Amino acid sequence: MRVLLTGGAGYIGSHTALVLLENGLDIVVLDNLDNSNPESLRRVEELTGRQAPLIVGDCTDEKTVASVFEQFRPDAVIHFAGLKAVGESVQKPLNYYQNNLDATMTLCRVMPKYDCRVLVFSSSATVYGTNQKMPLREDFPTGCTNPYGWTKWISERILTDVAAADPTRSFVLLRYFNPIGAHESGRIGEDPSGIPNNLMPFICQVASGKLDHLRVFGNDYPTRDGTGERDYIHVMDLAEGHLAALNYAKHHSGVEIFNLGTGTPYSVLDIVSSFEKANGVKIPYEITPRRPGDIAVCYADATRARDLLHWTAQRDLTAMCKDAWNWQKQNPNGY
Ligand code: NAD
Ligand code: UDP
Repeated sequence: MRVLLTGGAGYIGSHTALVLLENGLDIVVLDNLDNSNPESLRRVEELTGRQAPLIVGDCTDEKTVASVFEQFRPDAVIHFAGLKAVGESVQKPLNYYQNNLDATMTLCRVMPKYDCRVLVFSSSATVYGTNQKMPLREDFPTGCTNPYGWTKWISERILTDVAAADPTRSFVLLRYFNPIGAHESGRIGEDPSGIPNNLMPFICQVASGKLDHLRVFGNDYPTRDGTGERDYIHVMDLAEGHLAALNYAKHHSGVEIFNLGTGTPYSVLDIVSSFEKANGVKIPYEITPRRPGDIAVCYADATRARDLLHWTAQRDLTAMCKDAWNWQKQNPNGY
């Protein structure tokens, strides 16, 4: 079986590429390298001893996508390609709608021409919007607060409608919670450009001395210690969730939605203290006002993935902190 990974040179895509190759699947990656470096796939090849062919091209371009199908005849697609910076999406909404929605629609148009019916889509917990009961279940109401989130929400809608119009299609929508960490080798990991927005890459850069302290965005939330709580998931567990989703999609049709999280919330201060303990480094921090748009708590009910995909996250917070730091230490300037 060959799987096309759009956006497969990126953070989650490269870890998934590794898991698929290690499990005997063949892959091909289509990535425009807008937010990634081909070195990630070179290292995947080095770690697995298998080929990870990369086609540098845009997933919104129908000719390019068709030529990849013509050459590689993939049996399934995992669609990671997308712009993902929430703040930037507020500044440049049209870029986000155009890139993220065109990519999804282009794949939907090209796939049936090559008799490819299985697609796994990178969605996000952000589609649950705000004011929800926790833990979040897949059948809860949805809604978003920024253009990035809406591109995920609308892509889910498009895929649901396309599958309804053609019952032979099989689409799995994966709502990721907060992926962190890196492959245990420290050879591949998250390589944000500029100053990181997300908590774990920011902490790693404080630990390495690149940034002098962490700003903790608010300690007046209604949580155990007042700081925001999230469902952090090791990127290798997330990658393995994609393999489980592919196996599920092969034997089903229609659309299924799964949360991929651990089901356990940790606060910002939990992450800081686990990181310090796991790695023996100090993370200086100051408490600052809340970051606009943040919610207090967000975590998954992950029972549906357990019951139907036979998948649960295996790695704990200590492993997430160790692996994130191992990657950062070995690659202080990324790839
Ligand atoms: P990433 O930026 O590392 O990877 C995305 C990849 O897509 C990049 O390599 C980029 O170059 C590529 N890309 C973007 N637009 C493209 C296009 N039009 N054609 C070809 N390639 C294109 O991001 P990631 O963290 O690996 O995320 C992967 C997917 O998961 C994204 O769709 C993202 O929105 C989603 N997601 C990520 C998170 C997270 O916290 N990292 C959470 C929820 C959902
Ligand atoms: N956070 C923080 N300081 C930072 C980055 C993040 O205190 O420099 C907090 C943020 O308020 C949230 C949590 O860490 O409670 C996770 O934020 P992140 O941006 O990693 O993910 P999000 O859940 O917002 O997508």
